[in-house]
Amino acid sequence: MPSFTPNDSVTKLYGVSEARAKLLANLEICTVDDLVRHYPRGYENRGMTKKVCELSPGEVASCILEISSPLSSTRISSKKGRAMTVQKVTAHDETGSVHITFFNRDFLKTTLVTGRKFRFYGMVGGSFLSPQMLSPAYEPYYTNATLDNLVPIYPLTKGITCKMLSMLVKQALEAYKNVESLPTDIIKKYDLMGLYDALCAIHFPTDDAKMKEARKRLAFEELLLFQLRLRALKNRNKNGRSFKFFRPDMTPFFDSLDYTLTGAQKNAVENIIYDMTRSDVQTEPQILREYTQPMRRLVQGDVGSGKTIVAAAAIYACVKNRAQASLMVPTEILAEQHYASLLPLMEKHRIATALLTGSTKASEKKKILSALADGKIDLIIGTHALIEDSVVFKTPGLAITDEQHRFGVKQRDKLSGKTAISDDGKNVVPHMLVMSATPIPRTLALILYGDLDISIIDELPPGRQKVDTFAVGESMRERIYKFIEKLVCEGRQCYIVCPLAQNMNEELSEEMYESGLKSAAEYCEKLKSEIFPKLRIDFVHGKMKPAEKDKIMRAFSDGKTDILVSTTVIEVGVNVPNAALMVIENAERFGLSQLHQLRGRVGRGVHKSYCVLMSPIIRGKLADGANPAEKRFNIMCENESGFKISEYDLEMRGPGDFFGKRQHGELAFKIADLAADMKLIEETKKLADEINAKKQKNI
Ligand code: ADP
Ligand code: MG
Repeated sequence: MPSFTPNDSVTKLYGVSEARAKLLANLEICTVDDLVRHYPRGYENRGMTKKVCELSPGEVASCILEISSPLSSTRISSKKGRAMTVQKVTAHDETGSVHITFFNRDFLKTTLVTGRKFRFYGMVGGSFLSPQMLSPAYEPYYTNATLDNLVPIYPLTKGITCKMLSMLVKQALEAYKNVESLPTDIIKKYDLMGLYDALCAIHFPTDDAKMKEARKRLAFEELLLFQLRLRALKNRNKNGRSFKFFRPDMTPFFDSLDYTLTGAQKNAVENIIYDMTRSDVQTEPQILREYTQPMRRLVQGDVGSGKTIVAAAAIYACVKNRAQASLMVPTEILAEQHYASLLPLMEKHRIATALLTGSTKASEKKKILSALADGKIDLIIGTHALIEDSVVFKTPGLAITDEQHRFGVKQRDKLSGKTAISDDGKNVVPHMLVMSATPIPRTLALILYGDLDISIIDELPPGRQKVDTFAVGESMRERIYKFIEKLVCEGRQCYIVCPLAQNMNEELSEEMYESGLKSAAEYCEKLKSEIFPKLRIDFVHGKMKPAEKDKIMRAFSDGKTDILVSTTVIEVGVNVPNAALMVIENAERFGLSQLHQLRGRVGRGVHKSYCVLMSPIIRGKLADGANPAEKRFNIMCENESGFKISEYDLEMRGPGDFFGKRQHGELAFKIADLAADMKLIEETKKLADEINAKKQKNI
């Protein structure tokens, strides 16, 4: 029996010192269970060995070779002037030999000894006649020895190698021999692999089929637990209580707008008012407060569908009930924009409005906080500053989070956790409204936001101009530059976006990020000095300090910059109606939803707007090809609706992350794949509903 359990700290494992435990913590591995749930992100197929004569430069290959001569080691100095050593060794099989090079591995002298056999795995370089390998993986090879054919590749951090993780996982698995995390009847009903077998097969698969079966079992479990957690959250929140509002007369509000709401907007407003009043038809404010279940609603609408005004209607309804509302957004500039656009409307209705962000002056902040606590402010708009403990409401009626995908569930809940003590000494929480501009297919939304009710705005305000979209190759570059110049001369502004990654599904390493950033910066310099010397060009990227980013974005939104070059558009939801052109470089590297989000930055004003997808894969005219990038371009050129596009996106993506893990921390699954596992998602949703219903009955 092992001397540790799944819940023990990894330091219980042989080979994990305090220092190593710290490194593992960078991978969010703290317990033995975290370790075995750190699944491989892929496998190296080392089992398919080749003979030397079959190797071709540029491929990744595995071969079994015997060391021909002793390892040599020479000292050199690297480009950066650091001293380092190079090890060279030759190894052969009966068909030829391979030159192998390592760096700073002096210790290999005692391992790679003449006459011994190893299985080497790595990229083949050199030439067909004289193949080489640079720092290949090596495993001692004995006759009759069994080496794993599929070798796991793990997401890593500095100081932790795949070999190390494999070794630790092998130990850790000992603790799972008699552990099962799912009830037997579920395992039977859904024909799932047992936990121990699944963990063994995912980390050390003997073949592809076993690995897939293991993946299915683990994804099933992950999705089921996720949905059960959401239901628990929903149940808990149902038990909280909020102020019950009377149904206000919304006519003065609607009459004060210079447009009529779309059907979808009206519907969302009605959903919200229903939630907050629970269809209670009363016309007078009550003297004594009554309480109701808190609203927990998500408004999902494409970029530009007019979510802000829906939020404003909810605020109006709240304030007419003499309760306070808050609106939280992810960036300062967005907070300022919302404040500027909502203030005139709010003033018309005598709604006292304040702005609170990280750069609000201390004296000003103090005033705002005390007015808020006294109930003299009806609406507060701001950034994360709103969730600080010093922010206290007198009558918290409604908490709105805009662009919710930029916040974690925790932050969102913290805002709606701002409570007041009611007449009878119990807590009152505000109604919660979250707005998201990431259109996802309805079915998926219902599952992933299982703790929320959903209103969908699937209609754009009338009169919106279509953003004309073109996909072009390098041969059109000159013409595109001329087009940019022409638009700028007409007074418009332009975005140029450069990707950083090599590939849309690839994890970005620090080095790749740096080099990508460098090339984007160089490109920007080139635009400034060679292509558009007369235009005002600026550059913004994700690693800048927020204040610096805000400054550059503000200059652009104030019209002080003509062209904004960026790595990806950083400021979600920023409204620059004068921007009429979005150029996306290397558009083949972006996913559909991302392209759609980027395109949504233009076409927000009265000006005819355009989106240009530049890609070297396009030769001449855009073909109808089978190439997935070409397919994406065609979909972009032919579709405007974010919901439609997100359906295509989900359909088209193979294994990969529909949402982009970085952006959607809360929806980052370890093994489930939201695009590929739709069937599992639906199965587990049904099951979670059944389990939840049973639980509710028993209470
Ligand atoms: P988003 O859903 O992306 O947050 P906004 O709320 O910023 O969109 O709205 C985009 C623009 O559309 C704003 O300028 C807003 O005034 C305008 N708008 C919203 N609703 C309507 C409508 N029903 N008719 C006309 N214009 C509208
Ligand atoms: Mg918005």
